[in-house]
Amino acid sequence: TRWVYGFGGGGADGDASMKTLLGGKGANLAEMSALGLPVPPGFTITTEACNHYYANGSQYPAELKAQVAEGLAKVEKVTGKSFGDAGNPLLVSVRSGARASMPGMMDTVLNLGLNDETVAGLAKLSDERFAFDSYRRFIQMYSNVVLGLDHHSFEEILDDHKDRLGASVDTALTAEDWRAVVADYKAAVQDELGRPFPQDPQEQLWGAVGAVFASWMNERAKFYRRMHDIPESWGTAVNIQSMVFGNMGDSSATGVAFTRNPSTGESRLYGEFLINAQGEDVVAGIRTPQSLTKAAREEMGDRNISMEEAMPQVFAQFKDVVGTLERHYRDMQDIEFTVEQGRLYMLQTRNGKRTAKAALKIAVDLAAEGVITREEAIVRIEPASLDQLLHPTIDPSATRDVVAAGLPASPGAATGKIVFDADEAERLGQAGEAVILVRDETSPEDIHGMHAARGIITARGGMTSHAAVVARGMGRPCVSGAGEIGIYPREQLFRARGREFRAGEVITIDGSKGEILSGSVKMVEPELTGDFATLMGWADAVRRLKVRANAETPLDARTARQFGAEGIGLCRTEHMFFDGDRIAAVREMILADDEAGRRTALAKILPMQRADFVELFSIMEGLPVTIRLLDPPLHEFLPHSEEDLEAVAKATGLDATKLMRRAKELHETNPMLGHRGCRLGVSYPEIYEMQVRAIFEAACDVVGKAPTPEIMHPLVAKGEEMAYLRALTDKVAKAVMEERGVTVDYTVGTMIELPRAALRAGDLAETAEFFSFGTNDLTQTTFGISRDDSGRFLNAYIAKGIFDKDPFVTLDQEGVGDLVRIAAERGRAQRPGMKMGICGEHGGDPASIAFCEEVGLDYVSCSPFRVPIARLAAAQAAL
Ligand code: PEP
Ligand code: MG
Repeated sequence: TRWVYGFGGGGADGDASMKTLLGGKGANLAEMSALGLPVPPGFTITTEACNHYYANGSQYPAELKAQVAEGLAKVEKVTGKSFGDAGNPLLVSVRSGARASMPGMMDTVLNLGLNDETVAGLAKLSDERFAFDSYRRFIQMYSNVVLGLDHHSFEEILDDHKDRLGASVDTALTAEDWRAVVADYKAAVQDELGRPFPQDPQEQLWGAVGAVFASWMNERAKFYRRMHDIPESWGTAVNIQSMVFGNMGDSSATGVAFTRNPSTGESRLYGEFLINAQGEDVVAGIRTPQSLTKAAREEMGDRNISMEEAMPQVFAQFKDVVGTLERHYRDMQDIEFTVEQGRLYMLQTRNGKRTAKAALKIAVDLAAEGVITREEAIVRIEPASLDQLLHPTIDPSATRDVVAAGLPASPGAATGKIVFDADEAERLGQAGEAVILVRDETSPEDIHGMHAARGIITARGGMTSHAAVVARGMGRPCVSGAGEIGIYPREQLFRARGREFRAGEVITIDGSKGEILSGSVKMVEPELTGDFATLMGWADAVRRLKVRANAETPLDARTARQFGAEGIGLCRTEHMFFDGDRIAAVREMILADDEAGRRTALAKILPMQRADFVELFSIMEGLPVTIRLLDPPLHEFLPHSEEDLEAVAKATGLDATKLMRRAKELHETNPMLGHRGCRLGVSYPEIYEMQVRAIFEAACDVVGKAPTPEIMHPLVAKGEEMAYLRALTDKVAKAVMEERGVTVDYTVGTMIELPRAALRAGDLAETAEFFSFGTNDLTQTTFGISRDDSGRFLNAYIAKGIFDKDPFVTLDQEGVGDLVRIAAERGRAQRPGMKMGICGEHGGDPASIAFCEEVGLDYVSCSPFRVPIARLAAAQAAL
């Protein structure tokens, strides 16, 4: 097996396509060498060697020693130096390099090959002061990374020397001083370990290789991998490369550059450098780095000389190289370089990380420049990252005083005064105050307060809790499940991390990060024109899936259209029942003893429902509007307090004790599996009849706007159930259309939310004209876990690797997805070409959208603020 791949000296054994084997850094060093760019020669030990090492009890593969020796010999030949040669020593850097970049997670050793003898050789090649400074850097780094000694002890030694010499900066130390520091460093190693600092360069080299392999399994690296979904099985490569020195005087330098601005995307060289410094000095922030270009320096009012001015010839060459790299990789590059005594060396290039805004601009610009195609531009944008662009967000440069953390339930940021009560939120909101509603959890009764608030915090509840779903729907930032905060409504305060926050105090929430911050924090506003509009247009041209929105209020419907929704895929009528005085009439209806009582209450609701639909049809102007008939878990509507009950009694003139008794009768142990969805319509058909009437009266009222109602029945399980509901719908529709003498095009369909419905989809399709997969309930009923409460235990499942992802966020393609597949197949077998969509939360999740494309659904429907994400994800799924 080949374990070692060389590069440098104008060629390479590998190339950029070999990231799996050589890691990102190694593959790109090979590619740059092959392009003829100035890369210090070296070689890469493959990720397979790392995996072999772990699979064989920390043993290197048998052939590795010989292959490394051969690799080293080639480097010696190209550089004309020899490893361990006291006269003309080759020094190397040893760095990790996994397939995906894991910045700062693993270890690096520089200046390797120095010992008491070679340091003299280095002194001859440069000067004595430089040589001993390098040697002490090497001892410190190697002792820390390979020998496991704390670097503080070395810093203390250095500080002692400086104190004694009265020197405040390192540059004040002479060759003799550094020699003394080196002696003390070596003594410290001997003291700590009971053996001397290794002098044999071969021993040093293998120590460093072992340390890089070991760093793959350090806690930091493991944590980073978990965060970024990087499999342990990838392993890391090791890059061994001849050293070049940016700290050999004023004609030497080191720096980092981006070919375009990584935060704005502006097409202009961006970065910084330091004269007479080594790589870690730029990162360490000891000295303030200087601008690369004169223009950037002038813009920043920086008085320090730029690279362009300090070393014009090298800079001209550098600009050329950077241009070559961007054209070659066809993407913005993040580059590390060193100048050694006037000679430029490239140490690394990779596709640069960037903000969502920059990603968009760079992709659109590169397509406009003809460097990439429009399809490539589409694929390069992470759909979920668009979230950052649709809401005001916290200025990345702002200081953050984090009060507590929870789940990033709904993105964007908002600042306001703390309020603990929905009514109070509404009152203050109407008075023009910005408020943040803070609750243990929310229920539909809090909707008005959530609407009035700029943002919502809950102490309990997961990503699909009521607060999370509603907040996303409204585009309100929300942090849910912030278990760290303890809310004391009576005292009007919450406590978190030992601090206390009272009602009226100003806080900021970052719904994208799931953090609560104290005070007000600087924000940046969203921008939906320009590059955003351009890229979305390209995406629309290639996608097959239609994108609709889940919306019931006029505001949501308008937002949805503004974001490009092609209809409403789910209008949850129960959400329309909480506004203002309606809730009283709704409660009256639910608490009524008999049909006559219900009809009286329904008569009060009908005109309000009709008015809602008139508005929705008018806003959607001919686009399909899927209206789902009432689907309440009944308990959400029941009066919760004596006060509520009195209010209902007063509004209806009914006896409070009688109402109380009725409320008790209606109480359910398991309301999610109780008198919900179409079960309500079957047992009290007058409710659905009223709703269908309201829909058709509204449609007749605005027939000029080409209303296209799709009437949808929730939680259907049986063919007979569907047949009954279809007949009920048609009967009322026909009656209204005859009364009005108007014909309205409409269809009647069902949600698929129950395993039985999915399995018997053929039966349902006999009378249902369309399916909409309600994957919130379908996930809940398939797994038998509660969408409201699963947050409490799902983390344990994710931590133990039993679940990859929260199945309420990303569709479980194996189980729930199988049911979707089966239902789609059986539905279409019964009714060829049947229209199908998805309207659960998964309709806005890119991975789930890819699945919908695969299954051949016709549309996805998601909350208005996710519509652009879905448009882009649908385009990517189609490519
Ligand atoms: C669903 O269950 O997926 C759905 C869209 O309906 P709801 O969330 O209103 O139960
Ligand atoms: Mg449902």
